[in-house]
Order: sequence, then C-alpha cells, then structure tokens
Amino acid sequence: MSRPKEAGMAIPESSELLPAAPLLLTTEEVRLLWAFVHGDIMNAAMRTWLRASLGFCPRHTWAYAVVEIELWEAGVGARGGHQPFDVSVLYEFLARDFARRLALPHGWGRRPEAVLMPSRRCYLCTQLEVPLKDGFALGYANSNSASLAAEANLLLHTRRWCEATADEWSGRACPACLGLGGDGFPCRAHLAERVRVGAADDGALAASSRMLASLADRLADLSASMTASGQPADAETEASWVEVLGFFAGWRFPAFLAGLTDASAAE
Ligand SMILES: [Zn+2]
Ligand SMILES: [Zn+2]
Repeated sequence: MSRPKEAGMAIPESSELLPAAPLLLTTEEVRLLWAFVHGDIMNAAMRTWLRASLGFCPRHTWAYAVVEIELWEAGVGARGGHQPFDVSVLYEFLARDFARRLALPHGWGRRPEAVLMPSRRCYLCTQLEVPLKDGFALGYANSNSASLAAEANLLLHTRRWCEATADEWSGRACPACLGLGGDGFPCRAHLAERVRVGAADDGALAASSRMLASLADRLADLSASMTASGQPADAETEASWVEVLGFFAGWRFPAFLAGLTDASAAE
C-alpha cells in the first residue's frame, strides 16, 4: 500500500492541484474517508480543523466526494444513493465561512494571500501518517476496505455526475486550471497566485466572496433535494457540488472525468 507523498510542515505536498487523471485511492484512504463520512464530519472539533485547513487537501477533497458518491448506495430524495449529500452539507458550511473571510481580507490580521491558504494541514494527510497497529485496521462497521477501494476507484457514479453536469459548470471553471479561456472565477489556489503577483486586488476577493455565498445557497438547495421532503434540484443546483470542490481543490479532476481534458494534458 502506498501513501501520497508529503513534505513540509504547514502545507503538505498533496496541497498541489491534482493532475487530470484518476485518483487511484489507497485502501487506507478509503478506510479513513468511509469512517469520516459515517461520523467524524459531525464533530465540532473537526469543523474547527476543517475551517483552518480549508477543507481537505485537493486530493482528499475529491477523494471524499468519490468515496461518498461511489460507496453510499442508499439515500432519500429522487435519486436514492450515489449522491454527494455529506459533501454538500460540509462544503456549504465551508463556502459560507470562507466567503465571510474573503469579504474582509484585511480584517483577519493576515495578508490577503495568506487568507487564501490553509493554516492547518489536511486532516486525512495527518491520519495517513499514524502507523497502523500490527499493520491492520478495521474498516467502519467491519467493512472490507480493500474491496471498497476497488469499487470506489471505478469512479462509475462520480464520472456520471461530472458528465451530466458539465454543461453547467464548464463555463464557470477556473481558466488557469484547465488551460482554457473563459471568464470563470479562479480557484482558490490560482486566486492566491494572482494575489501574490499583484494581479488580483480586494475587488477580486470580494467578487469571489459573492460567488461563494451564492454557491452556498445552491448547495443548501442541493442537500435539501437529497432529503425526504426536499424538492428535486434543477441543473444549476446539481452542478453546485462540482463547482465548490473545484474552487477549493481545483478543476482538473472533474474535467478529466467529464472528458473535457485527458491524462496526456495533465500537469
Ligand atoms: Zn490530504
Ligand atoms: Zn485553478
């Protein structure tokens, strides 16, 4: 079993944006994320950590969505299972929180580009460094993590979601992530880069803040559509989870799944 390479203290190497390629999750990544989906997400201390770390690193942001979408087979709402419910709830919270911070980039005692970067490491990356006891760890409710990883890595349902919603989000994707033109908002990492080189000012941060606040409203509608009493979501709402993860973790992975780019264009 290999683990993602990591380096440095504040920002792990896996904070780099993903290439346009499959994730190929390890058994241990799937075991930890499957447990996270089933409980840790609700923990108040975990929310505090995730606020500081701006969610997960790019790899584990998309891995989190893949694990929920591929492995959660039953649900309520029109679709039933294989939908990003936990993802929408968590990232609505993170998008609203981050929108508030971006609206006041100088009000937090930090340089604007620092506001755009995590101040704490990805929780999953830290957990992957904890040695397994006797080389063995139980999956959530005794699940077989190796077979769950094999199932998740097929990406069947995540690919279907990305393909089905691509017409909505492709025009709003970060142009720098995909090497395309277009007038989409930069993702968090590319916005930070623009601030660093003086190509984005407080007005750009305020515009991203407004975009995130309205995205959070769509995420609220999306998670409501996955509850027993919720209304079915329209196409724009269905795309909201791809857009929020694209902002926080870059767009190459969903673009790859939707066939908008290919592995040869990675990096
Ligand atoms: Zn991570
Ligand atoms: Zn980008």
